[in-house]
Amino acid sequence: MHLTLTPQKLPDETGYNVIADLKGSEHPEQIVIVSGHLDSWDLGTGAIDDGAGVVIAMQTAEVLQRLHLRPARTLRVIAWMDEETGGAGSRAYAAEFANDFPHYIAAIESDAGAAHPLGFDVKAAPAAIDALRPVQSVLQSIGATVLQPTAYSPGADITPISDAVVPAFGLLQDSRKYFDYHHSAADTLDKVVPTELRENAAAMAVLAYALTNMKDPLPR
Ligand SMILES: [Zn+2]
Repeated sequence: MHLTLTPQKLPDETGYNVIADLKGSEHPEQIVIVSGHLDSWDLGTGAIDDGAGVVIAMQTAEVLQRLHLRPARTLRVIAWMDEETGGAGSRAYAAEFANDFPHYIAAIESDAGAAHPLGFDVKAAPAAIDALRPVQSVLQSIGATVLQPTAYSPGADITPISDAVVPAFGLLQDSRKYFDYHHSAADTLDKVVPTELRENAAAMAVLAYALTNMKDPLPR
C-alpha cells in the first residue's frame, strides 16, 4: 500500500472559550461547571466530538430555566476551545481562575459522544460518591446509574480543575460506535440520535442540579 499524506501545521490563531453563567441565588461564588469542547478535527463536522458535549452542557442550563429551577450555586456552561491540539483553552482558563478553584464545587465534561448515557466517571473522594446515591436513583429510569471511580481526570479540559482536587465528572456514554466515527469524515449530525442526546442532557442536568443545590458541597 502506498499512502500519500498531505497534512500541514499552520500557525496558531487566537480562539476563545465560550462561557455563560446561570447565577446562583445563594452562593454565586460557588461554581458547578458543565462543559464540552468547541473545536473539532476538520474532516467531519465534529457532531459527536464534541458538538454533542456542547449541546448537552447548554441544554443543562436550558432545562433548569424551563423548569424554573433557580440554582443555589452558579451553574457555569463552558464550551472549551482547543481540546484537540493540546488544551490551550483549558490552560488559559486555569491561568485566569485558578485562585477561585477552592470555591468550585464540581466540574462535569461530556466528550465521549452522543449515544445513550450510562452514568458518570468520577474523580472524587469515595464519600462524594456516597453522597450522590440519590442522584443514582433519579437516573435509574433512563439507565444512567453508573458512578465509576477513576484515578485520572474524567475529561481532558477539566484536568486543571480536577488536579486542584475539585470533584470531576465525565459523562459516560455507550461507546460501542464512537470510534467508528470519531476524528473522521463520518462524524456528522446524522450519527446523533435525538432521543439519546436528550437522555444525555437529562443525565447531566440531574447531576448538575443536585450539585448546585445539595446542602453541603461534596466532600473532597
Ligand atoms: Zn473530543
